[in-house]
Amino acid sequence: MSYRIRVMGDPVLRQRAKEVDNIDGRIVQIVEDMTPAMYEAEGIGLAAPQVGIQKRLFVYDIGEGAQVLVNPEIIESRDEWSFVEGCLSVPGLSFEIVRPKEVHLVGRDLDGNEVSLEADELLARLFQHELDHLDGVLLVDHLERDERKAAMRLWRETQNQSLPATDPLNGLSLP
Ligand code: ZN
Repeated sequence: MSYRIRVMGDPVLRQRAKEVDNIDGRIVQIVEDMTPAMYEAEGIGLAAPQVGIQKRLFVYDIGEGAQVLVNPEIIESRDEWSFVEGCLSVPGLSFEIVRPKEVHLVGRDLDGNEVSLEADELLARLFQHELDHLDGVLLVDHLERDERKAAMRLWRETQNQSLPATDPLNGLSLP
C-alpha cells in the first residue's frame, strides 16, 4: 500500500508511539512501504507515526542507502549545533533550532540485532528529529513562545492557501 504523510493537526503526530515487541513480517512490510513514501516526499527520514503507524521505528537515508531503526533510544548527547530544520509533516516551514551536535543512539535493525551508532551533525540531527516524532513532538515545540505563535499563524495561512510544498533543501527536509 502507499502511505500518505500526515501533517501537523493530525492527532496521530501527537501521541507517543509504542515499542515494537516483535519484529515480524508486518513490521517488515511497514518498513517496505515507508521507504518509498520517504523517497517520494524527498525526505531524508520518515518516522512511523508520520504515516499513521504508532510504532517506534523510523527509516532514513542520508545518501548511503535506506536504513531502519527499531525502538531507537538516545543514550548520550554532546555539544550544541544550530541548524535550519524542516519536516515533511510541517511542509512549507523551517526553523533554526539548537540541538545537541553529537548523539549516541542504540536500537535494533530489522533482523532484531542490536545496533549502537555514534552520530554527528546532520545524522545526529536526523536521529533527534525522528525520535521526537516517536514521542509526539514536532518542530514547533522547540520554538520560544512568541516564535511558536508566529509559526502557527503562518502554518494556518499556508494550510488555507495551499501554498506549494516546502523546498526540501531549504535547510533540510527532515521528514
Ligand atoms: Zn519531521
